Amino acid sequence: MINSLSKLLTALSGKLTTTSVVLHPSKICPTCGSRLCEAGGRELHLHEPLDVAAASSSHPNTKWCCPNPDCPPQVRARLELWCSPAAMDIKICDAALVAQLVQRGLVRDAAEFYRLRLNELAALDGMEAAKAHALLDAIAASRQRDAWRVLFGLGIPNIGAAEAESLCKHFASLDALFATGGEQLLKLAGVTEIMARSLTHWFSDPVNRKLLHRLEKAGVNFKTSGSG
Ligand SMILES: [Zn+2]
Repeated sequence: MINSLSKLLTALSGKLTTTSVVLHPSKICPTCGSRLCEAGGRELHLHEPLDVAAASSSHPNTKWCCPNPDCPPQVRARLELWCSPAAMDIKICDAALVAQLVQRGLVRDAAEFYRLRLNELAALDGMEAAKAHALLDAIAASRQRDAWRVLFGLGIPNIGAAEAESLCKHFASLDALFATGGEQLLKLAGVTEIMARSLTHWFSDPVNRKLLHRLEKAGVNFKTSGSG
């Protein structure tokens, strides 16, 4: 794992270090106060950039977004994606419930769904016993989802549901996929350079590697039906 990681970092370091992050001179994130940066300047853990582009005089169409991965709207967007039908399909956990779980500090990333307890849920607004049980059952059932849905649910930029499904066909597990260097990924049918870069960049972040480890430890399915 370490060997392949260092290889992919070597392969990608030139590209990654030359990627510039353009910060807006004055605009700040209304939620966390971070200086906004140009969307697309680097791969962000973000699905919906904040649209405050009108303020930019030199490039009126530039999208500016918050670079802070812990910014609550981004945390909520990642968790909503995790619960969405194409990912882990935890229907009962809608946007309002996600917002409440984040606000109460009960869930900050996908792995924390799997350690939620009944007594923690009981304190939430509108959470009757039957709903709390149904939520825990739905979370437990999500452990058995296909691995490509897990991969999609991680919200890696440029890895949509179709890309996730296609990638998983090449590997026996998500561990095997992430242990594969960028150059090796590029040799696979259907893998574009931007997909390979996105995957390796995402996996190069220790926070993301830890998340994968915690999800696997929580019993989330990492085994694909791919040949490996
Ligand atoms: Zn922010």
